[in-house]
Amino acid sequence: MNVESYVRDIQDFPKKGISFKDITPLLNDAEARAFCLTTLKNSLSNVKIDKVVGVESRGFFFGILLAQEFNAGFVPVRKPKKLPFDTLSASYELEYGYDTLEIHTDAIQKGDKVLIHDDVLATGGTAKAVCELVEQLGGEIVQVNFLMELTFLNGKDKLEGKNIFSVLKY
Ligand code: 5GP
Repeated sequence: MNVESYVRDIQDFPKKGISFKDITPLLNDAEARAFCLTTLKNSLSNVKIDKVVGVESRGFFFGILLAQEFNAGFVPVRKPKKLPFDTLSASYELEYGYDTLEIHTDAIQKGDKVLIHDDVLATGGTAKAVCELVEQLGGEIVQVNFLMELTFLNGKDKLEGKNIFSVLKY
């Protein structure tokens, strides 16, 4: 399947100079969605996953589908002040300033086998912060996967030692 044709480039979104990969056509097509889910799932054969961690907000879509496939729990990582229970936070650097992500402190148990999912790996700052949250709670990261990786931004460098998988690479 030519799944790339279901991702469109939107110029100057969300800011001037940025070319944004829009995955909504992919979400809107049952076959393309199924292809991506199967590809992500097949990248992890014969492994037990206890928890799938999805990153706000586009990481929730396939994160929840993957949790269902693996018969695993689903854990949302969210922007600050969205989660109602006790949280653990991790901050990471953006081009200008900082951003923070949070996870519920009881969402992962020590030794849980964890799959982290987000839609896009760009500079890797987001995924690195999520890895820190999971590891601080004692989770063992089995894989960090994405629908696509923007390879020219070298996000993988920030995730050294982690098992990374992406359906598409640009
Ligand atoms: P990073 O922290 O790796 O620089 O950025 C990754 C985060 O930003 C992900 O949560 C992802 O959803 C979002 N992101 C960055 N660039 C794009 C893009 O071109 N398309 C989409 N859909 N998300 C992006």
